[in-house]
Amino acid sequence: MIQPLKRRHCAECQAGPLQMLVLEEGAPRCLDCADLGHLVFLPRGDTALTRRSREESALSAVVVRFNRRRSRYERQGVLVEEAGLARAEERCLADAEARRRRRVRDAQRRAREDVRFAEAFAGEIRRLFPGCPADRARDVAAHASVRGSGRVGRSAAGRALSEGAVTSAVVASVRHLDTPYDQLLMSGVPRHEARRRIAAVVETTLRGWRAEVSGVG
Ligand SMILES: [Zn+2]
Repeated sequence: MIQPLKRRHCAECQAGPLQMLVLEEGAPRCLDCADLGHLVFLPRGDTALTRRSREESALSAVVVRFNRRRSRYERQGVLVEEAGLARAEERCLADAEARRRRRVRDAQRRAREDVRFAEAFAGEIRRLFPGCPADRARDVAAHASVRGSGRVGRSAAGRALSEGAVTSAVVASVRHLDTPYDQLLMSGVPRHEARRRIAAVVETTLRGWRAEVSGVG
């Protein structure tokens, strides 16, 4: 099937000008005279729908148009049976629905993993720092394990719940919540100087949280 560039009429029934024609022995014919009048045009663009429409159609035809600048025929779409197109659309919709359901399942699984990870992280904080309040441990773990945040909890070491990663997360929390670190930064104190000034408070807090159980016992 050709989309003609010039005004062409059907050599058999004289209908025209034709949007689409088929050349039979050099003479243009309209869709009806070529016995293709029952087909519908599906423009190119949706590869899966095009492929399936042709699979579902007993009769189909590629539609081309001549590109003068490139001096070649270019594919514009296909003519397919309407029922075949409908079945193809259903298959594509079913695929889209299946993909949507899988995305939902994946999101639910990631959420469960995040919860399990945060619980394990909090448990490790409480093991290393028995004096750290439980709700504080949960907050630190939740903050550190936010998916995709790039914080320590999602790093390889954090996933392995290494002592270094867990301690880093706790130190960061103490620095921001139990010392004037953030105010120092806001008032223009350089980061290293601010850390030096609060180092003693951080150290004391961590020592207290580490020693809690032995202190009780
Ligand atoms: Zn005709």
